[in-house]
Formats: sequence, structure tokens, C-alpha cells
Amino acid sequence: MAVTRVIVIGSGFSGLSAATSLAGKGYDVTVLEKNSTPGGRARSFSASGFTFDMGPSWYWMPGVFEAYFNKFGKSTSDYYDLLRLDPSYTVVFGENDFMDVPARLPELQALFESMEPGSAAQLDSFLEQAAYKYEVGINQLVYKPGRSMTEFMSPRLLLDVLRMDVFQSFHKHIRRFFRHEKIIKLMEFPILFLGALPRNTPALYSLMNYADISLGTWYPMGGMYKIVEGMVQLAEEKGVRFLYNQNVQRLEVQDGTVTHVQTETGTFEAEVVVASADYHHVEKELLPKASQSYSDSYWDTRVMAPSSLLFYLGVNRRLQNLRHHNLFFDEDFGPHAQEIYTHPQWPKKPLFYVSAPSVTDPGVAPEGCENLFILIPVAPGLQDTEELREKYFNLVMDRLERLTKQDIRSHIIYKRSYAHKDFIQDYNAFKGNAYGLANTLLQTAILKPSLKSKKVRNLYYTGQLTVPGPGVPPSLISGQVVAKEIEKEFAPPVGVNV
Ligand SMILES: Cc1cc2nc3c(=O)[nH]c(=O)nc-3n(C[C@H](O)[C@H](O)[C@H](O)COP(=O)(O)OP(=O)(O)OC[C@H]3O[C@@H](n4cnc5c(N)ncnc54)[C@H](O)[C@@H]3O)c2cc1C
Repeated sequence: MAVTRVIVIGSGFSGLSAATSLAGKGYDVTVLEKNSTPGGRARSFSASGFTFDMGPSWYWMPGVFEAYFNKFGKSTSDYYDLLRLDPSYTVVFGENDFMDVPARLPELQALFESMEPGSAAQLDSFLEQAAYKYEVGINQLVYKPGRSMTEFMSPRLLLDVLRMDVFQSFHKHIRRFFRHEKIIKLMEFPILFLGALPRNTPALYSLMNYADISLGTWYPMGGMYKIVEGMVQLAEEKGVRFLYNQNVQRLEVQDGTVTHVQTETGTFEAEVVVASADYHHVEKELLPKASQSYSDSYWDTRVMAPSSLLFYLGVNRRLQNLRHHNLFFDEDFGPHAQEIYTHPQWPKKPLFYVSAPSVTDPGVAPEGCENLFILIPVAPGLQDTEELREKYFNLVMDRLERLTKQDIRSHIIYKRSYAHKDFIQDYNAFKGNAYGLANTLLQTAILKPSLKSKKVRNLYYTGQLTVPGPGVPPSLISGQVVAKEIEKEFAPPVGVNV
């Protein structure tokens, strides 16, 4: 039987996962990537002796990574060494008001109890439900392609879905268990990973708290890019070809079928195309109008997850009062959230996040130095100028220096900022988004942009704008889900198995 030629556009986590899953089944897979290195939003760069992860820094749901490598007879430990962080992270509520979040449950229970009597027991029952949601959510729901309601029609699954508070908001759900403001802020934090507000996020996602508290925060020594390197190595072992600096410009469609993928420098024949680049970019910029599944107004009414203003900083001394992950929740999130979702504008008093991986990993900074990654979540689609970036740099530095009680600015020996314009230039990101489409109730499962084109029979989508959603674990899953759909519709070569 002839081997089907598959072109994968993009080498982020979803593209790598789809490419490897298909190559493992015997398809002939080529990845076309516009940048000079793989990894997409999770690329890294080195400067002045520092190594910076450009995007993700939280390694959550280790089982999803392990299951991915296990599928190919490998383990994460074949590619990188994982360390569980303890404390998992710290939350800064104000001056002299830092809360280390312990990795061990009994210590976390004691912390909760010290703030709100009775909350340790409440945490137990909250986590019991959250564990159930994680089990059903991760093992059953997120691996569904979301192409039809019939996928969810098993009586057992319907019962499970009903038990999982799908239709109640997380905001309401969490307040049924806890009253203390700090506990609520802590428990609402993981929801921010989903790109939407707790009010608009189904309570199903308390599974994220289970991921946080019970499964833990991990770190691959050497940085998050180690995962990308491992995945590329595995992909190559399975026969995937990678071509870099191949900016796809056009998909040639004849009679509802993509026949060729055209880049700036070449034309590639394709029998199946998997687009892991931003869905909107592929639809609106690479396809002829008649082959687009969704209208402009469809895209304009999608709730996008936030974009980010980022700073990568190299500091020529070790810093005090910082952990590996630091959440600066010293301002009220209410107005900042409005400025992200309701009235998009640059925030007046933003919350921000600082990652200092050199606290754990001496390899990412020169000796005696600190590697800092600062993230301010902001609305997508905002005007992005150097002046604005500098204004926010100073605003964040003022707070960081005051709260951690030290001079940082005069010790910065490397500085790079990154925001909307870079997301668009580097990844063709719709409105300069960082994390794709928000996981609101109305953008869940079959209500997300479909992983298969409605107009082009051999064009599939994967990644953070389709099922199951934003984040590294969902992107890894997305690639596997789309590969399975392709296997159903374009049978793999006989006799080849992973
Ligand atoms: C700043 C930041 C922090 C984050 N933090 C976390 C975190 O801590 N934990 C977590 O789990 N998740 C985090 N995320 C989310 C996570 O990184 C993403 O959900 C995930 O990496 C998306 O993978 P993807 O494959 O869908 O897309 P991408 O990584 O964007 O991959 C798409 C690829 O397509 C390529 N491409 C685009 N257009 C073309 C074209 N025309 N031709 C060829 N190639 C093209 C791009 O260059 C890119 O390589 C973060 C994201 C960002 C940006």
C-alpha cells in the first residue's frame, strides 16, 4: 500500500505530537516550520550566558507527558530529569505577606486551617470531587475529537458529565467550599491557565486544582525546552523530517482537497495536511475564501485567552525573597480582569508573575547570577509600543523591588521584552494572543473550532485554538487526537505499528 504523505504546518507541541503519532503509524511525515528552531511558543534562546524559556514555565500534569512518551515505548526520563518543586510556588499578597504553597498535602491543610478553621476538611472533600473530574476529564473527555454530540452519548459518560458540575461556574463552586479571601485567590489561580475568568469557566475545571495540589508542580532540569528537544528527538527516531525557515504562504485546494502546500521557497505535495499554526491564520491567510470554514464575525466573537507582555532579564547577582515561581497578587484582580476581558485596554494595576528558574537550576544562568522571566497578562489586540513596554517594565520593577526589598534594576545585564507584535511576527498569532482560545463553557468540546475543516476533506487542525484547549498538556493531547482522526479517514499503511 502506498504511504500517505502528510504535511504538518508548525512544530509547537501539538505539531510535534501529531507528526510523531502519525509517523509511528507509518505515514510519511514532513514538518514545515517558519522559524529556524522547533518548539513554537515554547522555544528558548540564549544570551549573555543565560538560557531563557520563551513561553511555558509550569510543568503540570506529568502523567500526560509520561503517557505520551510511553506510547512510543519511551519515558520522559529517557529525555530529561524531572524535579518536583517544594514549595510549588509562592503567592505575594503584599508587603511582608508572602505565602509559600507547600507541595505536601498535610502541610497545605495546616496552612488552610490556620487561615480558616474547618477549611482543611473542606479541602479534602473539594479534592475528592476534583480527583474524580480529573479522572473523567483527562481520561475520557479531553481525548474526544469534539466533532459530534454522539461522542458524549454514553449513559455512563452523561452521568459523569452531570456529576461534574459542567454547567456551574467555578466562581460559585469554589465559594461553596471556602470563604477566606486568600484561599479563594489561591484556588482560582489555576483557572487563569484556561484563559478565562472563574465566573465564565465551568466548575469541571476544578480538575486543575487537583493537578496543582495533588499532582504537583515539576521542572525539567535544563528548562522547559528539554521537553521540545526530547519530542524532536523522538519524532526523528520515528522518521519525521523537519524543514525550518519554511513559512507556509498558501494551501492549494482543488475540488475540496489540498493538493500542495506552498512556502516562500518551495512547493510540497500533500495527501493530508495538519495545521498546527494558529487556526485563524491558516483559515484566513493560507486558504482561498471558498475553502474557509468560519466567517470573520465568527472569529471576532471568539473569547481569546490573554496575550502577555514578557520580560527576559539576566541579573548579575543572586536575589533574595524569590522562589522558582512567584505570583504577585498584591493588587485586586477584578479591575485587571475587566481590562483583559470586558473593556480591553492596558491595565492600570496589573497582577504579574515572575519565574526565577535559576533558583532551582544553576545551568540557566552564569554563576552568581539570576535568570528572570516576568509575565503580565494583557488583552489580545492591544496597541503594542516600546514606550508602553518600558512603562510597564518600570511599574513592575517598582513593585518587585519594593516587595522583595532589594535593588534589581541596576544589576540587570541582559533585557529583552516580548508582546503582541512579536507573537504576530513569530507565530502569526491572531490578535497577538499568547495562549489561544479561552476555555469558556461556550467554547468547549464541539463548540470549539473543529479539528477538521468543514470545507476541505484532507485538512485538519491541531493546537491551542481547537480541542481540547490551551496549555502544554492539552496541546500534546490535541496532536494525538487529530492523528487518530486521520487514521480513521486515511488508513495507515498495513503492518506498521508504533
Ligand atoms: C508566555 C507563555 C507562557 C505560557 N505558560 C504556560 C505554562 O506555564 N504551562 C503550560 O502548560 N502552558 C503555557 N503556555 C501555553 C503553551 O505554551 C501553549 O498552549 C502551547 O505551547 C501551544 O502549542 P501549539 O502547538 O498549539 O502552538 P505553537 O507553539 O504556537 O506552535 C505553532 C507553530 O506553527 C508555526 N507557524 C505559524 N505560522 C506558520 C506558517 N505560516 N508556516 C509554517 N509554520 C508556521 C509557529 O512558528 C509555531 O512554531 C504559555 C504560553 C505562552 C505564550
